[in-house]
Amino acid sequence: VSIEEKLGVNKFILDEGNPHIITGKDTVEEAEAQKLIKACPAGLYGLNSDNSLRFDYAGCLECGTCRVLGKKGLIREWNYPQGSYGVAYRYG
Ligand code: SF4
Repeated sequence: VSIEEKLGVNKFILDEGNPHIITGKDTVEEAEAQKLIKACPAGLYGLNSDNSLRFDYAGCLECGTCRVLGKKGLIREWNYPQGSYGVAYRYG
């Protein structure tokens, strides 16, 4: 079973328009971005051609990895989703 198939069994309830993670810098060094791109288990980070960070909070597994790696301004705000929003793991 691939990682994508495993992630596909989780359920996400998206808090539309209210991201629980907000990135911090307008432009980033590629090495900085690669830390997040490689570490996020859900593959939610990317680097745009203008060196801005691409991020989509939909599908976040709430693991906290980017919270730790993004301490030097890459991540401006990191919270758990409110209420019943966010990830629901199918198999624990
Ligand atoms: Fe990715 Fe984990 Fe950060 Fe969510 S908390 S964006 S899954 S690294």
